[in-house]
Amino acid sequence: MNVSTSNASLIIHPEDPEWFPDDIEEITVSLSNAGLIAGNIPDRDQCYFVGDNFLELIAFLGCSPNINLTPQDNPDKFCFIRLMRNQEITAFTSQHTHAPLCPHCKKPEKNWSRKMTDTELACTCCGAISPPWNYNWRKSAGFGRFFIEVTEIYPKEAIPQPTLLAGLQQYHNTGWAYFYLYE
Ligand SMILES: [Zn+2]
Repeated sequence: MNVSTSNASLIIHPEDPEWFPDDIEEITVSLSNAGLIAGNIPDRDQCYFVGDNFLELIAFLGCSPNINLTPQDNPDKFCFIRLMRNQEITAFTSQHTHAPLCPHCKKPEKNWSRKMTDTELACTCCGAISPPWNYNWRKSAGFGRFFIEVTEIYPKEAIPQPTLLAGLQQYHNTGWAYFYLYE
């Protein structure tokens, strides 16, 4: 299932796919205090303008990021942050998702899109059955119940900095990972 509104996103999520914030208000405040997000975007649920420390917390590679951080230039295409909380574990994959590596034999599972269920993926090579989130998707897919989406970011164009991930871990007592999704 793909519920992204952007055709290229960086998505940060808890390593534990079951974890989600009990109180979305509390995590919103912590992200705001960290300077990742600013105010709510009018008429868009759980969408926020980027905050004052955005460019320190999300490092862009290359000399000058060609990215609109405000809607002034193009109201439909600018970088913003969306928080997503789901009842069930949601899979984010795309046509560009890499063949994931089996947690047991480390071989790529090329038939993942055909074989994967909501909770299991059997390895063609060694036969081991594992939850899909235990595979190594090489930052091209993610699973969980809570996501912090940064829109308009192409793969490897920008990287969440250790200060952001460590801050999230310290505050919420769970490890964090990230991946890129694009259509
Ligand atoms: Zn295997």
